[in-house]
Parts: sequence; C-alpha cells; structure tokens
Amino acid sequence: MQTRIIRTTAAAFALGGLWIALTQQPPPQPLTIEKLADDLHIIVGSGGNVAVLTTEDGVLLVDDKFDRNVPEILERVRSITSRPVRYILNTHHHGDHTGGNGTLAHAAEIVAHDNVYTNMVKGKQPGPPRITFSNTTTVRLGGKEVRMYYFGRGHTNGDAFVLFPKHRILHTGDMFNTAGAPFVDYGNGGSGVDWSNTIDQALQLDFDRVVPGHGAVVAKNDLREWNAAWGSVRMRMSELKRQGKSRDDAAKALKLDDLAFWKSAQGNWRSAASLYDELR
Ligand SMILES: [Zn+2]
Repeated sequence: MQTRIIRTTAAAFALGGLWIALTQQPPPQPLTIEKLADDLHIIVGSGGNVAVLTTEDGVLLVDDKFDRNVPEILERVRSITSRPVRYILNTHHHGDHTGGNGTLAHAAEIVAHDNVYTNMVKGKQPGPPRITFSNTTTVRLGGKEVRMYYFGRGHTNGDAFVLFPKHRILHTGDMFNTAGAPFVDYGNGGSGVDWSNTIDQALQLDFDRVVPGHGAVVAKNDLREWNAAWGSVRMRMSELKRQGKSRDDAAKALKLDDLAFWKSAQGNWRSAASLYDELR
C-alpha cells in the first residue's frame, strides 16, 4: 500500500512535469528584419534566412521559411514597403526554405534550379517552382537585377547561389551555414566530396558579404576559410578510414572542435558516417 501511494505520487509528479513542460514552453521567437541596405533586408529567426529586395514594381524574396511563418514574413515585408511580393527565389528544396511556396504561389512567381522542382515533386511539397534553370538565370524587377547560379553538388543537387550584384551580397542558402555544421542531404543528391569545388566557383563571383542559409551575415573571407575547413574535414575522415576505423568509430573520432562553425558538431555530426561512405 505504502509503495502504491509512492508510485502514484511519483506518477502524478511525472505527469505534472509533463503538463508544465507542455504548457510552459516559451512562445516561438518572433521573426526580426535586419537592414543590409536601403532596399535589401533579411528576415531571421525560425527556418532559413530570407532576403527581401524592395523595388518600385514589387518585392523579391529569397526563400520563404515554413508555411506557418508566411503571415509574419508578410508583416515584416509590410513594415518596409507597401508593394506586393512578386518573386520568390528558392536556394534549394528543403521545407525550411520553401515552406511558404504553397501559400504564396498564387501571387508570386517561384524560381529555382531544375533539381529543386524534381526534389519537391518527389517529396510531394507544395508550390514547386514554375520557372527553373540549369546553370544561371537573371531575374529583373523594378530596374534591379538578381542573378542565380548553380555550380554543382553540395548540400543537395540543386543549390542556387543568389547574387545581388549592386549590393555585392551573396545568399548561399544552406551551401554555407554559420549556425552550425553543414548537412549533406545524400538522399537528394548532396555531396561532401564535391561541396568545396562548388564553393570555389561561388567565390569567383564579385561580393563582399554573405547571407548564409542559417546564422549571422559574415564576410566573403569567412566563406573562404570555412571552405578550407571542409578540406580538413575530408582529409581527417580519409585518414580515419585509412587507419581501418569503422564508420561509427570514425564518425565519433572525427575532430571538428577546432573549426569555426563546426565545433558544436564534435562527436555528433549527422553527416559524418555518410561522408565516410562517400570517401573512397
Ligand atoms: Zn537545407
């Protein structure tokens, strides 16, 4: 009887804890808008970084986070312009970058790489792009130009780099991430081996600042150094493989804690084992 009471009490406590956890979760952080130039802003928080180019003929967005973020994205856009969203350029197909497509597609044209269309249709994602390109394309709106480039595999098989030539700013999507270690989406054609070659080509473009897929805006040189770190990661993994380590042991042993933006993935980088498999 005594033990039953204790158990019941313990269960009540456990449920109480769960109730507290469910009801006291902090509300999601509101999205914030940051100014990069008079006519170029980014919307950050929840999902990928959204770039907002304002023109006299309307607004061009790069990426649109999750579908649930659309009302708040539009609110932030309305805080800087009364013009409508006319274009959405998707850096790649992932739902934290294309989630708003389905809701926004009736009013805005969606542009992305050919493989974004294929991946979105395969994944039954709403709002696949109606306009796609294979290597490069230019979108013009209100006298302003934005260029999209595809340089090869990396995060996926359809990552676009979006260049704002006048601002000398490059939006990399998840080909670069200053919020944590990169993720290689092998299921959608990603490649940790090709990734650096792809970035090397992007580094040939004229730009000074970089808007990563997630995390803070940094300088071009930060992207250059991060790409060099990719080389170290591959060399270290190849060496672990050469030593005869199993893929799991190699994934755990891979040293990342001395590399900027990779540190937090030490011992738990989710692309480590797949990179082991990809490396010959
Ligand atoms: Zn992604």
